[in-house]
Amino acid sequence: MTLSVRNIIPIIKAQFLGTNDIAIIDAISIDSRSLQNTESTLFFALVGPNHDGHQYVATLIKQGVRNFVVSYIPSKLQGKANFLVVENTLVALQTIAATYRSDFDFPVIGITGSNGKTIIKEWLNFLLSPDYNIIRSPKSYNSQVGVPLSVLGINEKHNLGIFEAGISTTNEMKNLQKIIQPTIGVLTNIGSAHDEGFHDVGEKIKEKLKLFTSVEVLIMNKNRTIEAFLSPKIKTFTWSSEDGKADVFVIAKENSDKTEFKITYQKLCFKIAIPFSDQASIENTIHCMVVLLYLGYDQVTIQQRIALLYPVEMRLKVKNGNSNTTIIDDSYSSDFQSLKIALDFLESQKQYKKKTLILSDIFQSGLATEDLYSKVSQLIVSNKINRVIAIGKTISSYKKKFPNCLAFASTELFIEAIDKIPFENETVLIKGARHFHFEEIVSLLEEKTHETVLEINLNAISHNLNFYKSKLKPETKMMVMVKAFSYGNGGFDVAKLLSHHKVDYLGVAFADEGISLRNAGIDLPVMVLNPESTSFSAIIQHQLEPEIYSIKGLTAFLKIASQKKLKKFPIHIKLDTGMHRLGFEEENLNDLIALLKDNTNVEVKSILSHLATSDEMKFIDFTLAQIKLFEKLSSKLMAELEIKPIRHILNTSGISNFPQAQYDMVRLGIGLYGVSNDEDEQKLLENVGTLKSIISQIRTIDEGESVGYGRRFIASRPTKIATIPIGYADGISRHWGNGVGYVVIKNKKAPIVGSVCMDMLMADVTDIDCKEGGDVIIFGANPSVNFMAKQLGTIPYEIMTSISQRVKRVFYRE
Ligand SMILES: *Cc1c(COP(=O)(O)O)cnc(C)c1O
Repeated sequence: MTLSVRNIIPIIKAQFLGTNDIAIIDAISIDSRSLQNTESTLFFALVGPNHDGHQYVATLIKQGVRNFVVSYIPSKLQGKANFLVVENTLVALQTIAATYRSDFDFPVIGITGSNGKTIIKEWLNFLLSPDYNIIRSPKSYNSQVGVPLSVLGINEKHNLGIFEAGISTTNEMKNLQKIIQPTIGVLTNIGSAHDEGFHDVGEKIKEKLKLFTSVEVLIMNKNRTIEAFLSPKIKTFTWSSEDGKADVFVIAKENSDKTEFKITYQKLCFKIAIPFSDQASIENTIHCMVVLLYLGYDQVTIQQRIALLYPVEMRLKVKNGNSNTTIIDDSYSSDFQSLKIALDFLESQKQYKKKTLILSDIFQSGLATEDLYSKVSQLIVSNKINRVIAIGKTISSYKKKFPNCLAFASTELFIEAIDKIPFENETVLIKGARHFHFEEIVSLLEEKTHETVLEINLNAISHNLNFYKSKLKPETKMMVMVKAFSYGNGGFDVAKLLSHHKVDYLGVAFADEGISLRNAGIDLPVMVLNPESTSFSAIIQHQLEPEIYSIKGLTAFLKIASQKKLKKFPIHIKLDTGMHRLGFEEENLNDLIALLKDNTNVEVKSILSHLATSDEMKFIDFTLAQIKLFEKLSSKLMAELEIKPIRHILNTSGISNFPQAQYDMVRLGIGLYGVSNDEDEQKLLENVGTLKSIISQIRTIDEGESVGYGRRFIASRPTKIATIPIGYADGISRHWGNGVGYVVIKNKKAPIVGSVCMDMLMADVTDIDCKEGGDVIIFGANPSVNFMAKQLGTIPYEIMTSISQRVKRVFYRE
C-alpha cells in the first residue's frame, strides 16, 4: 500500500497536528519492537486493557518514525512528529483497512468457526496457489487487530484473498466483515471454544454468521440449527455425511494413518485420500474439497492436490543450536507477510548480536520478482541481518541484493556444503517454503539432546500476565518472580518477554540468577530475595538490588556501600509479619531505623513482607493479621525515616484473594506460569509449559509377564508397552509410577506401569493406536501440573521447578 498522510486524515477522521501532511506511508505498524518501523511507517498507538502503545511513541521518534495515529499526544512530544489524533486508534486502524479493501474486487474467501480456521486457510492456499496469486492472513492473524493488518497486505497483483476471522464475544464480527468483505464464506464448525463470551449457542452462531452478510455463497457442513439462523437471502453450498439433501455427500473411512473419502456431487462420484486419520483433519479436508468443487475444479485435480496435504505447523519455534546458536524454526512457509513477522520475532530474541537468515524462494507475493526481492532486501537490511543464505534458483539470482550472501540452487546443495559454513554465536532464522524441506536444515543445525522437551508458550505467559494486571488498580506496580529459572520455564526468554511488557521489577532468589539476567542484556530493576554477604560486591557491580532482612546483613551492606562511596543505592527492607522465614521483626525496628537514619549511601526503595497462607481462606484471619502488622511496621518505618518507598506484600494468590492489600506493588509468581490454586481462576489462565517426549520402543508382553525393576507390574492380559525416555533424573517423581500417573498419547491416557526409572518410564498403550517415534505428553493442559501435584501430595511449584536442566526448553509463539 502507498498512501499519503493527507489521504489518510479524512478516512479516519483525524485531527492533524504536524507539519508534513504530504509524507508518504508504505507500511503500518502496531509493534514498537519491529525494526521495520521507518520514516514511511504509520504507527498506530493501540490501547488495550493492559497495554498502551502511546508509551512507545517517544522511543520510536528517536528511532526515526515520523507518523503516528494516537488518541492523545504523549507529553512533550507535540511538534516532534506528525500526529493524527483520533478518538479510538483501533477503530482508525480498522477503518483504514476496510477502505483499502474496498479498492479491490477479486474473490475473497472468509473463514470463521470454532476450530480449523488456520489449517483450512493454509490448505486452501496450498491447493489453490497453482492457479491464483493469493493474499492470506499470515499465521493466525484473525483478531480485531490481526485482520486489518492482514488486509493491508493486499496489492494490485493479488487475485484471490483468504482471510480468517476469529471472535471471542458479541459485536466483534461486524467489524471484521467490513474489513474482509468476503465473497465466499466458509463456516468450519461451531464448537465450545470461547463459550464464556456468549450467552448461549444461538448468540454465538448469530454472531459468527455476521461475517457472511454479503457473500455470494456460504460453504458449510449442513446443519439445521445453523440454517435456522441464516437469512434466506444467503445462498449455501453444503456438505454432509448424513443428510442426503446436502449439495455434496461425503463418506469418510479412516484407517490407522490415512483416510479415504467417497464423494457424491451431482452426477459425479469419486474418491480422495489423505495421509491423516484424525477427526479434525477429516473435517478440514472436506471443507477444502467442497471449496474446490464450488470453484469448479475437476475430480482429477482435486484428487491430485488433496493427496499432497500436509500437517500445518503454525508456530515459530526457538531451539538451541550447535556452537552457541539459537535457531528460529519457521521452516514451513515463505511468503512476504510471514517473513516480516519472523524478522520481528528474530529481533525480539536478542540473545546474540549476529543474525543469519536462511531463506528460500518466496512465492505468491503478488509482486514482480525483481520488485519482490528488492523489498525483501530492504526488510533484511532494516532488520540488520548480518548474513543471508539464499536457497532456490530464483532467490539465488538476486544474490547481489543481500548482505553477505551465500547462494545455493537447492536445499541438497546447501546441505552438501553445510560443514564448511560456520555457524556460531548467532541467531539463525530458518524460513522456507514447504517443498524446500528446510526441516532437514533445522535438524542438522539443532543441538542434539534427548527427545524430551519442555515447550513454553510465550503467548500464554503474556495472557496470564495481562490477566493478573487486569485485577490491579492501574497505578499498582508489578514485580514478577523469575527465580529458579522462572519456575523451571527458562530464565532468559521469559525475562525478555517481561521486559517487553514493561513490568516494573523482576525478582530472583540468588545473586547469580540476577547476574545471568544482566549478562543476557535484561536491564529491568531486579530484586534479589536472598543475597549472601559474599555476593554484595557482585550485586552492586551488576546493579542488582538486595533484599535486606537482618541487622547483620544491613550492617555488612552499609559497610560495603560506604567503602564504595555509593549514593542512594536501592535496597529493599523485608519485614517478618508471620511467615517466620526472613525479615526484621517488630523488636528490630528501632535498630533498623537508627542504622538507616540519615544514611545517604543507600535508599530504601521498597518495604515488603510475605504472606504465609494467602491461598487458604480458612486462615483468612491469619493473613489479615499479617497485613495489619505490615501496615503498622511499614508505617512506622516510613514516618521515622521520612521516606515514601514502594510497599508490597501480595503474591499470586494474594492478588486474587486480598486485592485490598495491593499497596504500591504486587509480586506475581506461579500465576504467570499458568497455575492457580482457585479452580475458577484456573480456567481463565492459559497453560504455559508442556513437557513432551516420544516413544522409544513398543513391545507386546503376555499375560503374567512383568515390566521394569522389581517386577512391580504384572500384565493381566496381553499388554502393549511403550518405553518413553524420561525418568526421575528429569524430574518425574517415582511416586507417579506404578499406575498412579499417566502420560497422554494421541489424546488418550496411557497409565504408567512399573516403577519410573532414572531415565525412562513405561506406559500401557494396549488400547492406543500409536507408533515408535510418536509424541507423548507428560504434562501440560492434560494432565495439568495442578492435577499431578494433588495426586502426588505436593504442590505445582515443586513439580515445575523439578524439571531438570537437561530437559531442553523450546519457546514458541502461536
Ligand atoms: C516466590 C515468591 C513470590 C511469588 O509467589 P507465588 O505464590 O508464586 O505467586 C512472592 N514473594 C516472595 C518473597 C517469593 O519468594
